[in-house]
Amino acid sequence: MACDSSTCQSNSGCYKREEEPISSKSSDSSQQSLCVKCKVNEPVSGTSDDGRFCRECFRSNLYGKFKLAVTSNAMITPSDNLLVAFSGGSSSRVVLQFVHEMQQHARKNFDASKDRSLPVFGVGVAFIDESAYHSVPSYEIDKAIEEIRSIISNLDPPAKQLHVVPIENVFSLDSLDGRERLKTLVDSISDATGKEDLLLYLRMLALQKVASENGYNRLVLGLCTSRIACHVITATVKGQGYSLPADIQYVDARWEIPVVLPLRDCLAPELNMLCHLDGLKTLEFSNGPCSGINGLVSSFVKLLQGENPSRECTIVRTAGKLTPFHFNRIPELNDSNVPLATRRRQKRFNLKPSESISSASFCPLCFSPLSKSDLLSLSNIESCQNYDILDAACCSSCRFQIFPKDPSSVEHFLSVLPQPLLARAKNCSNGNYSSRRKQILDCLLSESEDET
Ligand SMILES: [Zn+2]
Ligand SMILES: [Zn+2]
Repeated sequence: MACDSSTCQSNSGCYKREEEPISSKSSDSSQQSLCVKCKVNEPVSGTSDDGRFCRECFRSNLYGKFKLAVTSNAMITPSDNLLVAFSGGSSSRVVLQFVHEMQQHARKNFDASKDRSLPVFGVGVAFIDESAYHSVPSYEIDKAIEEIRSIISNLDPPAKQLHVVPIENVFSLDSLDGRERLKTLVDSISDATGKEDLLLYLRMLALQKVASENGYNRLVLGLCTSRIACHVITATVKGQGYSLPADIQYVDARWEIPVVLPLRDCLAPELNMLCHLDGLKTLEFSNGPCSGINGLVSSFVKLLQGENPSRECTIVRTAGKLTPFHFNRIPELNDSNVPLATRRRQKRFNLKPSESISSASFCPLCFSPLSKSDLLSLSNIESCQNYDILDAACCSSCRFQIFPKDPSSVEHFLSVLPQPLLARAKNCSNGNYSSRRKQILDCLLSESEDET
């Protein structure tokens, strides 16, 4: 397949496409055997036909993309306390490594500075144990947790705290009841994609909970271009086009603890390669095949990427043209601990109100911003039945995939929902229905004013 070298020119592009098109490659074989960046070392083999960096240049290029994402979006400031979500895969392993190196660097600067005015940001690690649902044998999960402990303790000081969090913790009951409830809740959903998506929402809930309870103020996820490209397609298929731009930015501060994606510009094969080159240990869990839309899309995107290695970048860059939301930025920093340069940079890169959509209403299940048509369906309800209101308060995707179709099973579904989701849902359905309606109307009014 012909390669369009113009598709990958931005800083979000692939490292592979920076040089001349493939056709001119064979002309000079002595040049070809050297790294295209330093022109000194031999390139590393094993990525794909055009991985033409040497090990050092490959590494510094990848770290450079991470660093650029972090600094341009003011993701990390000296007074921050970061929680890195660690699943054991190569993306989260690399993000942990890079955050660790950045911390080491900050520490060196701190030791070297005379006044020691700037603190060094803190780092903790969270592993969400999903064995309660995936029924992984307990010896397997114990072994995995042991390995994660050794990965974390082998990093140079300062020591990083590891939080191992069973996903059923979101129910804040004793763990046996939690396990039971988790199973009942997920099994009550008949749609395979709905089950997977709900687990994803619960995982985020668990991460938010552990971050908030332990004093972290940023949640770092290892989502890379390849995963985001899959999300773009699945969200489109599920009818989540309105909320999609919220999920694919560098920063997502709709949550209590803002979420940051510093590997947004890195591809999965690059991250695998780095783990391989640097001997970074990763873990695989057998969670069974993804049987719904998510699994189908992921194999489809893999197929596209196989044909043309810039496909994933193209998908993400195209979706990146959608207008983000007002919460897709780190809230303004007024902390005197934050260097002036960082604050200036943040001002420069932050979204202006005219470049973003504001949203006041969120789906109680997946927490995605609600579109005007979602809100209209909510304001049209005439009855005050909990069922109708909650059903209408969900985004169309949750309504279709997760929310029970049969009114008689709704009470049961509500009774097993975790407390924070229930609280969000109740917000929509308790006696404040009329004020809720007013809020919706106000929101609609201000939106239509914006448009005129
Ligand atoms: Zn090189
Ligand atoms: Zn939803």
